[in-house]
Formats: sequence, structure tokens, C-alpha cells
Amino acid sequence: MTRDSRYDVLFEPIQIGPVTARNRFYQVPHCNGMGHTMPNSVAAMRGMKAEGGWAVVATEECDIHPSSDVLPYREARLWDLDDQKRLALMVDRVHEHGALAAVELVHSGHNVSNNYSRLPVLGVSDSPVNSFDPVQACAMTHRDIASVRRWHRQAAIRARDAGFDIVYVYAGHDLSLPMHFISRRHNRRGDEYGGSLENRVRLTRELLEDTHEAVGDTCGVALRFAVDELLGDDGICSAGEGREIVEMLAELPDIWDVNVSDWANDSVTARFGEEGNQERYVSFVKQCTSKPVVGVGRFTSPDAMVAQIRRGVLDMIGAARPSIADPFLPRKIEQGRIEDIRECIGCNICVAGDWTQSPIRCTQNPTMGEEWRRSWHPESMNPRGASKTVLVVGAGPAGLEAAMSLGRRGYEVTLADRDQGGGRAVAEARLPGLASYQRVADYRIGQIGRCADVRFYPGSAMDANSIREFGADHVAIATGAQWRRDGVGRATWQPVAGCDTHPALYTSDDITAGRSPDEGPVLVYDDDHYYLGGVIAELLAASGLAVTLVTPGPEVSHWTQNTMEQHRIEQRLLEMGVTLAAKQTLAAVSPGHVQTRCNATGQVVHRDAVSLVLVTSRVPDNALYFALAGEDESRLADLPFSLMRIGDCMAPSTIAQAVYDGHRFAREVDERPDPDVVPFQREQSLIHPLGG
Ligand code: ADP
Ligand code: SF4
Repeated sequence: MTRDSRYDVLFEPIQIGPVTARNRFYQVPHCNGMGHTMPNSVAAMRGMKAEGGWAVVATEECDIHPSSDVLPYREARLWDLDDQKRLALMVDRVHEHGALAAVELVHSGHNVSNNYSRLPVLGVSDSPVNSFDPVQACAMTHRDIASVRRWHRQAAIRARDAGFDIVYVYAGHDLSLPMHFISRRHNRRGDEYGGSLENRVRLTRELLEDTHEAVGDTCGVALRFAVDELLGDDGICSAGEGREIVEMLAELPDIWDVNVSDWANDSVTARFGEEGNQERYVSFVKQCTSKPVVGVGRFTSPDAMVAQIRRGVLDMIGAARPSIADPFLPRKIEQGRIEDIRECIGCNICVAGDWTQSPIRCTQNPTMGEEWRRSWHPESMNPRGASKTVLVVGAGPAGLEAAMSLGRRGYEVTLADRDQGGGRAVAEARLPGLASYQRVADYRIGQIGRCADVRFYPGSAMDANSIREFGADHVAIATGAQWRRDGVGRATWQPVAGCDTHPALYTSDDITAGRSPDEGPVLVYDDDHYYLGGVIAELLAASGLAVTLVTPGPEVSHWTQNTMEQHRIEQRLLEMGVTLAAKQTLAAVSPGHVQTRCNATGQVVHRDAVSLVLVTSRVPDNALYFALAGEDESRLADLPFSLMRIGDCMAPSTIAQAVYDGHRFAREVDERPDPDVVPFQREQSLIHPLGG
């Protein structure tokens, strides 16, 4: 297959200072939860993007000095020559595949607490650090500013010597000193670095000039700049200072990497922002500069990408999440394989890796973060083993991924689902803001349809007898899980009195199946803490019912702090008139009435509620597995086939985890790893001799 000529413009080379990018696909800096602690893993992950056709592959933010130490987060570092060697691993992997490597140098100012280095925090002004750590930054003196400029310059030279082709000055996301200096909120200085806009931009200008002077003959110099903070008059605004700054610095960087701030606005989830949603803020930039402009917008559609270039909005299509979901997105467009693109669903599970200090993961791409650790490649599987046939029961995210990946290995796969397939991904896609979850099913069902070795039978409920009679070499049970109807969750460890006889009690399964309460007031009790409780409250409030959301957590949808949505969810629910009650645990229910208990005082609160929706925890749908394996798995060894349960049927979790589980099953059929051995390679700290 060849590429559609409509997309030719995406493959035109472009000059960035002294270097040339081979096409218009630019993996902008993105964190990965691995950072400087896992340099081999990062190198393999970034190298995969280069192999997949991206012209530029950038690091995440890269600390230039121990006074900018982001612990507990794991980002890149370029403090010394040792760090340089580690980052050179990534550069080499990126160069191997013909891409340019970019490094996003950062001094984080008051965005860090220096928990590791224990150096004083340097900030634009005397102010508390960004987190709740009981730490303040000290206002930088002229000597401190000179030091930061020297450290930035030294880091730029180390970056060039590591082989990087593009070196960034970073004034974005409200996360770095240059942006703190620019910001009227943060900058209270009375010297030539404070007051007028020209003064506040001075540090950014100096860093750009320093970087040009130090490495500009060999490296392109990029400026990452947030043109709008979406804070109105309190922040940088594309109609005001944002534009003025671009005009002031117009020709100074070799490339403008522009976005909105903060990170939650830049990487907005699909629930709160559509593809291309930054255009209205960044579209002015190209009118102010002759230098190339790169920007992001969760672009997965090549037509949308082409439109950005043709309409003069961007010169290069920046991507973090679309490159995570599909590192081979550019190659697939180049090869005319549009239907093979694994589209990002905008869920921000990848972002959660960074916030939870865990290696990056992705709902759509189970190989993300596993390129080095397990040698997984997103586009190729290990060859088929000795056996031939596999039966997968249940076509939710786990079963679909398993069947698709087994088909790629060359197994003859039968996939059966009692319904139409897609499982919870399709069910949840019916809820407000979650339509993109459908992509989890659509991509896999589409791929399976093109794979002669996989036969998919929707509308086929399987039982133990039909599975035994089927006679496959391997059977995977991927039958999912059911939401509990008795209130048991994290805060409540035994069934809540009255749930079993309540006349209007619903679970998430009821709601996604279209069985919603039609009478209020409704109480949604959320002891799950991810998105579903909040989404269901939104759905019911939108249908006109009076809704109260009660949670034993500290706030509504608490875990969505990690996907950077919590504040939006809370705002939306409050604006819709939903009453929120946090730190309250379900105590008893009766028709028309619910009792909750304050976590702190134990005081009981009586609430009127005709209908009750429980989002607490799930019970694996594992009856089929145990019917075959025996209650204590005693028959497992005697079965004429290997039997596994995967996904939510084994241990309910995120859709990302179900997909991962299905993928791992597919990789390991015929080669089950020894359960007594660590199943992946690890990056271990060096051991220094005692006293050394
Ligand atoms: P996971 O996230 O682990 O993939 P889901 O709950 O999303 O789990 O999907 C489970 C799928 O299994 C659903 O599509 C459901 O229709 C299907 N299923 C459950 N029991 C059976 C069965 N006995 N036979 C065939 N399909 C089943
Ligand atoms: Fe997109 Fe979700 Fe994957 Fe992140 S985890 S890249 S948001 S699909």
C-alpha cells in the first residue's frame, strides 16, 4: 500500500536551525514515570517512536541542576557527565532510526521541593513551593540568576555532546523558572527582571541567547511556550501578553513549540476537550514569526493534521499521547494503513504513570513502557509456539486484545462473546464524555476482521461443556466482572444493611445497560474513586433528577487527580447542581432513605433518597473458570487444554490493565514464564564498595 497523496505535505522535510527534520511528525516532550532512574527503558521507548516514523523525538523535562530536583517524580536529568551518558543511550536509539533527538532543559524554580538534593529552593520571588510541602522558595539574587544561566548553558553543552539535535528553553505549564519570571502572579521583583513585560521576559530571552551561543551552530534551539494559561486576566493570555511575548521573541528560537498551560489544560482528557482544541489559542503564532511552529491537540486523524498545516496553524504536528497510543502512527499514514492506527482515547492513564511514579502505561498500547523491560514491540509479536488453537471466551478489552495478538502470532483463534463484544469499553462509551472508549473495541474488532486466523462469534454464550467440547489447545476466560449490589468496597467491608431489599437500587452495570433511576432524589455512592461515580452522577443530573454524590474519599472522583480531571469533574457536578458530600461512608439504606457516617466523627447523617446507585467494587465473573478448573483448581492439571483467566475476570482493574493482561497472555501462550523468577529485566542501582 502507498500513502494517499492528500497526506504528502506531512512528509515534507523542514529546517530547524542547523538541523533538518525528515517530516512533520514531532513527538513533543512527555513524561513517562521512568526518567533518569530507567535510562534503558526510556531509550527503548523513545527509539520505538523514531522507528515508527516520528521526525523529532524529545525527552520529558530534563533537570539541569540539583537545585531543580523534582523528587518524587522521575524525569530526565542532565546534572553531570554521568547523566549525559545515560541520556546518550536515548539519543543513539533515536538516531538509529533516522530521527532528531530533542531535550527539554528545565530549571523548575518553585515547582520543586528539592527533597533529594536538600538544597534551598530558588524561585523568582519569596513564595511557597507549588506542592503542599512545607517549603518555601527564596527569591533569586543576581548571583543566583547568573548561576541558573551558567547551569543551563553547561547542560546545553552536555546535551550537544550527548548527540542531541534540538535543545529547548522551557517556559511552559507553569513548571519552570522562565515561565515563573514571565508570570505576573509569581514575579514580584522590583529589579530589571520584574515589572514590565520586557523585564519579565528577560530571563527567557537570555536563556535563548545563551543556548544559541553555546550550541546553536550544531543544535536547533526550541522555545516551548504556553501562550495561554486559561486564567483570564490573572494569567498569560493569547490575546494579550501571550501574543506580545511571541512578537518580542519572534525570530529568536529556531522553532516555536506552543501550547496552553497548565499541564491539565494542555493534556485535557477526551471527556473535557476535543481533538484540535488548542487551535483557537495557538493559531496566531505563525503570523508573528517566520520560524516553524509545532503544536499539539491529540491529533490522530491525518486529515485533521493536514488541515492544520494547510490552514497555516502549524508547521509540524506535535503529539505526546497519540505517539504513546501508536508509536507507528507516521509510518501507518505513510504506508496508507490508516485503518491500522491505534487511536488515543484521551483517558490520561499514561499521565497517571507520572503522577503515581510508575513506568508509563497506555490503555490502547499495552507495549508502552515494556520495550526494554520485556522486549515488546507494538507492531510485532513473537512467533507461534508448538500448539495451534486458542479459544478466548469474552470479547471485552482483555479478550479482544488476546485474540488479536494471538492471531498476529499465527494461532488459530476462536473468540466468543455472549453479546456483541467490546465488554465494558463499549458499555461505558455510552456514558457522557466517554464516547472515545469505543475505540478500544473498534480498533481490535477491525484488526480481527482482517486477520484470517481469528474467528469472532458474537452472540455466543459459552458454558463449561461447550468449552470442553470445543477442544482447543488453550482456553482463556475473559468474562469480566460485575459491580457489587451490597455496598462492599474500600470503606465498607461487610454488606450494608438494607441493600438486599431496596426497591430502587442500581449499580454501574444497570446504568450502562440503560436501566437508570427515573425517580429522585438519587444518591450515588462512590467508593470506587475513579471516573464512573462522577460520570453517573453527571448523567442522572443531566436527565433532570436531583442528585447527591456521597463518597468516603477526600473528594469526588479522588483518583482522577492522577488523570488531571478531578477539578473539572467537581466543577461540572457543582455547576449541574449535584450536591457533593465527601468523607462519608454508607451506613444503612431503606426505601426513601440513606444513612451515611462521617469518617472523622462517626456522626450519622440522614438523607432522603428514593433511588440509590452503588459504585463500590466488583466481583470477578469467574464461575466458568472454576467450573472447569474445580473450586480449588484441583482439576486444572488434568484438563486436556491449558486454562487461564485474564482481565477483570481475574482481578478487576482499569481497561488499560485488562488490555495489558490480554496482551501478556497472548505473548506467553506456549512459553509460560517460571512463576518463581522475576518476569522482566530490571534497571538496578549501582552497588558501590562500602566506604567508596
Ligand atoms: P475485561 O475488561 O476483562 O475484558 P469485560 O467485562 O469488559 O472484561 O468483558 C467481558 C466480556 O465477556 C463481555 O463482553 C461479556 O459479554 C463476555 N462474557 C461473559 N460471560 C460470557 C460467557 N459465558 N460466554 C461468552 N461471553 C461471555
Ligand atoms: Fe491516549 Fe489513554 Fe494511551 Fe494516554 S493512556 S496515550 S490518553 S489512550
